[in-house]
Amino acid sequence: MDFQTLHQLSKTELHCHLDGSLSLSCIRQLAKMIDRKLPATDNELRRLVQAPADSENLGDYLKAFDFVAPLLQTKKALQLAAYDVVEQAAEENVRYIEIRFAPVFSLAGGLSLVEATQAVIEGLHQGMATYDIMAKALVCGMRQLPNTDNQTMFKATAPLLGSTLVGGDFAGNEADFPTNVCAPAIKTAQSLGVPLTFHAGECHCPQNIAETVRLGIPRIGHATACFDQPALIEKIVETGTTVELCLTSNLQTKAARTLAEFPYQALKKAGAKITINTDNRTVSNTTLTQEYQRYQQAFGTTAADFLAFNLNAIDAAFIPDADKKSLRDQLHQDYATYC
Ligand SMILES: [Zn+2]
Repeated sequence: MDFQTLHQLSKTELHCHLDGSLSLSCIRQLAKMIDRKLPATDNELRRLVQAPADSENLGDYLKAFDFVAPLLQTKKALQLAAYDVVEQAAEENVRYIEIRFAPVFSLAGGLSLVEATQAVIEGLHQGMATYDIMAKALVCGMRQLPNTDNQTMFKATAPLLGSTLVGGDFAGNEADFPTNVCAPAIKTAQSLGVPLTFHAGECHCPQNIAETVRLGIPRIGHATACFDQPALIEKIVETGTTVELCLTSNLQTKAARTLAEFPYQALKKAGAKITINTDNRTVSNTTLTQEYQRYQQAFGTTAADFLAFNLNAIDAAFIPDADKKSLRDQLHQDYATYC
């Protein structure tokens, strides 16, 4: 399929970070609100907010996020940011998106965890009022923070769970803070009824994926390090765990140093539930359409595959069955010409 067809197809996305996905125009608008000076040209600005081409690991990649954090410290800024990402997704015909963010990084201006989360929810509502898209929020705990901080965040935000805030995640420094370190906060989130996904396997650490599955988390962000671990892949399939693949991001962070280290083919062959995601539209300089094109080019992914991956995403989405049904119907209709 050509780029235009891929662009037009209905798509779904489970794994997209708010702070890593702001458009340059939104970044300029947010910077203006706090009188922060930015480079005059978009090329110069891009260099500040995109992952460096010579990133050596996830740690290097995560540095790009430091630039944006000071811009997301007010209700208005978080609303605009959430709206901006919904708009970008809707413009490439994403019909369902879960946008994740860490409320703890938006407290420097005096907002509470609840206020920061509500602001993102409001931005998503504004986006949904304008565009034909269903947009949901996930709150992220951060691996490098003490468990007590993540527990506080989940306890504060769990009462907001509902039609727009639909779940949680853990992100951040995986190399130094493996899954088992976060277990107490994971258990708190689970006991509060927060549906969870979890970043694991981005630092050549299959044991983090195994531990995530063992803890009963139904979705894994990345799971890159399982590419050469058949027993682990079998476990992923057996447990029905959904994998949120992020190709461009993995190549940048060197989670996959080459395409051969990316687990797509091994997972697909084993019948695992895989989904395609951008991770960070701006930091990774990508779109979901571009990701689809890369899969086509690298792996010969077909329209039938894309449909299957979208249906996997809908199955794993943290939304009611009635919403899943209408999304499935739309996808089947859309892909009928190509499958
Ligand atoms: Zn991510």
